[in-house]
Amino acid sequence: MRKQIVAGNWKMNNDLVQTEALLINLKKQIQTSSAEVMVAPAFTNLYHAFESLKGLNIEVIAQNMHYAENGAFTGEISAGMLKSIGVNTVILGHSERREYFNETDEALAKKVDTALDHDMRIIFCFGEELADRKSGNEEMVVASQIKNALFHLPGWKFKDIILAYEPVWAIGTGETATPEQAQDMHAFIRKTLANQFGYDIANRVSILYGGSCKPSNAKELFTKPDVDGGLIGGASLNAEDFFAIVNAF
Ligand code: PEP
Repeated sequence: MRKQIVAGNWKMNNDLVQTEALLINLKKQIQTSSAEVMVAPAFTNLYHAFESLKGLNIEVIAQNMHYAENGAFTGEISAGMLKSIGVNTVILGHSERREYFNETDEALAKKVDTALDHDMRIIFCFGEELADRKSGNEEMVVASQIKNALFHLPGWKFKDIILAYEPVWAIGTGETATPEQAQDMHAFIRKTLANQFGYDIANRVSILYGGSCKPSNAKELFTKPDVDGGLIGGASLNAEDFFAIVNAF
């Protein structure tokens, strides 16, 4: 069976004091769940969050990393640095990284390789813009993002890859893809994987939906057969809302 996963992306929110408050609230909300739960604080708060959530069923993950092992890359963080503080999973390819920091498929392919070389798991994000959907090109765009960054890998490496379909027009906008739109795209993504790696592998990859997922729409989204969970932005900053989404499974 595929893993069900709910991951919270805190983005560039919360200083140390605010992070501590959110961690305390999260701990109050923890319940046994069939889903794996993850949160991605800002780099400055990662170690504190890791220590604070040690032994609990919430994995602390990173929002990004560089592809180089180390060196003259001012302001960047390496896979080795993340591993050294206990972080084993990283989000790569978020649309905000692609848009504001010019991350290309080519650079992402290198980050993917580095993360896997360090035995890290990856939540790999991709998704079309509104103009792509309006012109009916959403499948073509999504297929090329996946192919360019991931199809050079041998199939067995997908055991460490989680996919996150995040239509850019739904991120932080309050506009959610309908459960049917999400299901159609997730099924297409799985078929694209299967065509390259076979259904055995494709059926084991968890595909998360991201884009204004909240307590009121999570259940409907998560009941779709190819939607294996969510990558949550805004709603993950509130512990009650975040766990309401986790408990939507
Ligand atoms: C995200 O940024 O990954 C995201 C899904 O954000 P939001 O839930 O706020 O749309």
